[in-house]
Amino acid sequence: MRYDSDLLYRPPGEWKSYLLQCTIGCSNNQCTFCGMYKEKKFRVRPVEDILEDIDMALDYYGPGLRRVFLMDGDAIVMKTGELMQVLRKLYSAFPLLEKVTLYAGPRSTLSKSPQELKELHDAGLSRAYLGVESGSDDVLRFIHKGVDAKTMLLAGQRLVEAGIDLWVTVILGMTGANGEGGDWQEHILSTAKIINEMRPRHLSAMTFAPAKGTPLGDDVLAGRFTVCDADHILRECRMLIEHLDVDPLHFTSNHASNYLPLKGGLPEDKEKFLALIDQALEGKIRLRKTLNRGI
Ligand code: SF4
Repeated sequence: MRYDSDLLYRPPGEWKSYLLQCTIGCSNNQCTFCGMYKEKKFRVRPVEDILEDIDMALDYYGPGLRRVFLMDGDAIVMKTGELMQVLRKLYSAFPLLEKVTLYAGPRSTLSKSPQELKELHDAGLSRAYLGVESGSDDVLRFIHKGVDAKTMLLAGQRLVEAGIDLWVTVILGMTGANGEGGDWQEHILSTAKIINEMRPRHLSAMTFAPAKGTPLGDDVLAGRFTVCDADHILRECRMLIEHLDVDPLHFTSNHASNYLPLKGGLPEDKEKFLALIDQALEGKIRLRKTLNRGI
């Protein structure tokens, strides 16, 4: 119940979850588009404090909690033994608990053996959110993701193999309107390829929206990076959906950053999604006003 700041980040789908702070900030904290943890110096909280917070949550919420999200940016980085302690205490304090989820950094994921990941899954680590952003090495380098596509793929595959429900996010418009961050078609085709090889259960395609105080936000303000327009984003989204062949895949593109909200299952909704995008490109569907446009 204790947080280091008032600004708490969690995936949109975790709005019902109790947020348990296990780490502070993000172990990478270098991505040029991301402003979430820029002010925070990364550290893992002492496990005693985390266990104490679980007692506080039990007093406050009672034993009926069903979902817990482990904050901040990369809780899987915790020592496996400590993460196991947290999971065991959560499931014993809250007998109705159904899901414990976290953001997973690719390097932290790979610092654990496949056996450790399996043990974490068996102890109740239900889902991991992995920010893949792109399957293109050019784009990953451009945004300072800190890993190449091969490393990212391996991290995702390890999570899937461990039985952890994997939710991946990728970002449309990440190469810029003038190719400042690379070739957009290569970005999209490589992204479809990495997703097809990783085989997550969920995929969210967000749209790049410049954030104040970030290197890429500064580039936008200085005219060094041009944000893609809605038509371009729709074409990227179309190409991505066309090339995805994971079955089944829960697909969403309905974040506040997206122009055309899409949500459904692939492959069964593929034709419907493509038709909607085509109608939007023809101007037959009104697009959403989106988050942070025109920083
Ligand atoms: S995008 Fe993720 S990995 Fe990159 S700085 Fe933000 S929280 Fe950290």
